[in-house]
Formats: sequence, structure tokens, C-alpha cells
Amino acid sequence: MARRALLAIGLDSNIPHFVQVGSVPVFRGAGSSDLVCRCGASVLIQGYLPGNFLAIRIKCFRCGAVSTTPGLPEGEILPRDAITVMGYQPAEPQETLGPKLMKEYEVKDARTLTSCNTCHR
Ligand SMILES: [Zn+2]
Repeated sequence: MARRALLAIGLDSNIPHFVQVGSVPVFRGAGSSDLVCRCGASVLIQGYLPGNFLAIRIKCFRCGAVSTTPGLPEGEILPRDAITVMGYQPAEPQETLGPKLMKEYEVKDARTLTSCNTCHR
């Protein structure tokens, strides 16, 4: 029986989401700068737009190092449709957008969630 390798996304922060194969960039974006591995010899993302690659781990084919792109700051919230928009740019700053989306999506804050009558009535 043939064996198949399964790709699993683990929570282990050392496991890359993408592995670069050869010297071509793993992604090409519309940004004006490149995401380069710390070895300095491999372009991992050409035209890197940080908003398109949140907390993505890419393994360099040359040196084997795993580079991680920055994720969202804790507590930051994005519109649902931002996930499918390439080059998403927020229309307003997070300070005003965040509270609005929290209300719209009915995201409960810590105070509400830890209150007894959130669950018990
Ligand atoms: Zn490298």
C-alpha cells in the first residue's frame, strides 16, 4: 500500500508553513520591498506586503532557517472580508476600527466573559 505524507499545521513554532524549493521566492506580492532570509541570500517573498502574510513561517532552502512574518498585535481585530483581500489596507486606524468591529461582531470583552451571568441565568 502506498504511503502518503500528510501536511499538518502544528502549533509548534518551529514548523514552517511553507518550505522554499530552490532559489525562487515562495510568494510574489505587489509590495515594493522583499522579505529576505536572515542569511541574506534568499528572497522568501518578493514584493512583500506585511498585511498579506500574518504570522507565516517560511523555511529558507539555502540555510534552513525559518523566518516568521509579524502577526497582528494582540487584541487587534480585522474586518471578516480582509482575509480575502490582497493588499488589505485598513480604512481607518485600529483605535477607531477595533471598537466598531468588536460591537458589530459581538466580541465579548474579558469582563463580560468572566462574569457569572454570561453563562448562568
Ligand atoms: Zn537563509
